[in-house]
Amino acid sequence: MAEHSSGPWEQTGTIIWSPSSKAVVCNLSEPYPDGYLVKHQELRLGSQGWDEAMANGSLVITAPALLALVEAVEWVHLAWGGMMCAWCKGIYPNHAPDCRRQRALARVRGEGNEVQA
Ligand SMILES: [Zn+2]
Repeated sequence: MAEHSSGPWEQTGTIIWSPSSKAVVCNLSEPYPDGYLVKHQELRLGSQGWDEAMANGSLVITAPALLALVEAVEWVHLAWGGMMCAWCKGIYPNHAPDCRRQRALARVRGEGNEVQA
């Protein structure tokens, strides 16, 4: 799987993009049903989904910073000298099988993701 665009990401209108890599991350759109399919149309100012889509865009641009935060916070030192995962309480070097940090990072890395075309 390819690396994602480097952060920080910015939002200009309906476009989320990475200034450092000059790549578009996504273009906010509005989904609509078309039979059994879901199609997308350009997000237009004042349309029904505008406010929610723009709020979603604000969340998307924080992704690189949130990823860096999750990557940075893993083990905390314990009084007896050991270390424990801050998320699942697993004792170093083992995470619990359902550690949400490890699951989230695996999804970012594309491990176990199913992409719908
Ligand atoms: Zn863990």
